[in-house]
Amino acid sequence: MSINRRQFTKLCAQSISLTMLSACQLMPRPPRPDAQAPANTQAPVNANPQPTQVAGTSATNTTVSAYSFAAFSSVTTRQDATNLYIESNGIPSHPMMIGIKSWQQQVPLPQNYRGTSAFQIPLTPVIADTPISAKTALYRGAIAIAANGVPIFNALNNRGDDALLAGELDQWGGHCGKGDDYHYHVAPLHLEATVGVGKPIAYALDGFAIYGSTEPDGSPVAPLDEFNGHMGSDGVYHYHGTTTYPYINGGLRGVVTVTDDQIEPQPHIHPVRPAQEPLRGAEITNFQILGEGAYSLEYTLNNAKYYVNYTVTDTTCVFEFIDASGTKTSETFQIPQ
Ligand SMILES: [Zn+2]
Ligand SMILES: [Zn+2]
Repeated sequence: MSINRRQFTKLCAQSISLTMLSACQLMPRPPRPDAQAPANTQAPVNANPQPTQVAGTSATNTTVSAYSFAAFSSVTTRQDATNLYIESNGIPSHPMMIGIKSWQQQVPLPQNYRGTSAFQIPLTPVIADTPISAKTALYRGAIAIAANGVPIFNALNNRGDDALLAGELDQWGGHCGKGDDYHYHVAPLHLEATVGVGKPIAYALDGFAIYGSTEPDGSPVAPLDEFNGHMGSDGVYHYHGTTTYPYINGGLRGVVTVTDDQIEPQPHIHPVRPAQEPLRGAEITNFQILGEGAYSLEYTLNNAKYYVNYTVTDTTCVFEFIDASGTKTSETFQIPQ
């Protein structure tokens, strides 16, 4: 492990720029038999930010005041005539990483989901002619944004496996991509405690809300379609989070723009360091936020404890690796500006 890290240089780290979706390509993605472009693909990106693929229902969604992002002080929103923009650093207030049994040695680092790298959803979602199933597409990048500003990826990892059942996720349904970007792969139902029962816990990137384990009026969840959604009593489609597959929106019922198997536009990740390698047999047993920008991750390997301590400032990220014998090594990376 240390040999690989020594091979990494600051120059290398600074030269890398990955898109959000490729950030979670933890392993090469095998070709899929249905690798054709999704039916809703619209290109080029941003050529027509106002969706024109209007089919059938044009649903007026909730007003901005009803969005759940306001429940989290770390998340800010702004809007123009067509979109709501969600800005955050991608770091939730809950603990992270604990419980991961299939770990790629990535850790949560603050991300710059702001300005042109903010998440965005349409203010007026539109039902698509041809919805996109997440079973066979959208393996790259976020498909939804949680109320706490953490992106949500397809419940299937880039190899088509259920990320939760594969042991890749922590107790909150998240883990980190190759850009050290924390994201969920299942519904963050735990956010219901903050947003309130019957309030959306997330929004799919088509703009339709994702509710938790009750309907907006508090009643039990009505039967769901294959995308974990249905038409609400208000005549507006919405999704629900569930504890079994598809966990989160199982596709996009609404109009989105898809390019290269990911919804665009997406925030771009600028990794601080080169991508890490899987560490077979490791299990993350503790994670602590020690203070502003200071973190400590503990993992066990062969019944011994190891630590990754790191401190992030505006300009640098300093890692300290402590092995089972207590030996410390450190590395400093510049934050790409
Ligand atoms: Zn992931
Ligand atoms: Zn519902």
